[in-house]
Amino acid sequence: KTRAAEFQDLARSLNHMAGRFRNDIHELQRMQRVQNEFIGNVGHEVKNPIHAVFGYLEALASDSLAPDQRKKYAHKGLANLQRLNSLFSDLIEIARLEYREDMIRPTTFDLQDLIEEVGEMLEPKANEKMLELAYDNPSLAVHADRNRVRQVLTNLIDNAIAYSDQGSVRCRMRRHLDKARIEVVDTGRGISADHLDRVFDRFYRVDTARSRKEGGTGLGLAIVKQILEAHGETIHVESTKGRGTRFWFELPLAPAGGDGQVTEAVAA
Ligand code: ADP
Repeated sequence: KTRAAEFQDLARSLNHMAGRFRNDIHELQRMQRVQNEFIGNVGHEVKNPIHAVFGYLEALASDSLAPDQRKKYAHKGLANLQRLNSLFSDLIEIARLEYREDMIRPTTFDLQDLIEEVGEMLEPKANEKMLELAYDNPSLAVHADRNRVRQVLTNLIDNAIAYSDQGSVRCRMRRHLDKARIEVVDTGRGISADHLDRVFDRFYRVDTARSRKEGGTGLGLAIVKQILEAHGETIHVESTKGRGTRFWFELPLAPAGGDGQVTEAVAA
């Protein structure tokens, strides 16, 4: 090779490196922006309930309240503390999932017991709204982190109940090739197409007032997505406004034979 050709090769690889460097910088800047936005959102979400608690406590500390007003303010203060509590639990969950991938501890377990556990917990909420809550409980052994999958199911079914005023919420599970396919279907208010791909973003809500009223933090679906991604799986959604919504995902079936034994889940 001539010297000139060598220089040309060198110039080309330097140029290539510079291009990659520029891309990395752009990616870092984008991540920084997302991070800043997230911190801004957290600040915003935290400020309102804290101000509310201050206000109610200040009023309670004065002697000027009638007894029934006192009770009302105390309850409102508690409700705001409850909101902060849920928010911090969800934030801690997100941070854990993000920074410690070893938080996923798969064991082999049966979906049957799990869905019954979640169903029993959420039944009172469904009954209160006169919604039918139905779930099949086939015996399907999967290999996944049981506590995390419980959280995925809880978040999806809880949302299905929260955003439905009538009809039913159904959770179905079946074998699909070498996976278990799990879907949560409701006949609730639905999500219009222009919101659909954003519902997994942190703090994104279609209707903030409704979400708050239902005790939502706007983080539930972001957590669902993160948990499934940590399992190498994906969450899917389809919805028709005014008709209802269907979320579904898959989990690996436990290997058949010897180690398909259902083992006790390890607490995370
Ligand atoms: P939130 O705490 O507000 O429920 P999520 O992350 O769980 O937060 O959900 C984000 C938003 O997606 C909700 O605020 C709601 O607008 C919409 N959503 C979630 N699940 C459903 C559903 N089953 N039906 C209709 N809308 C839903």
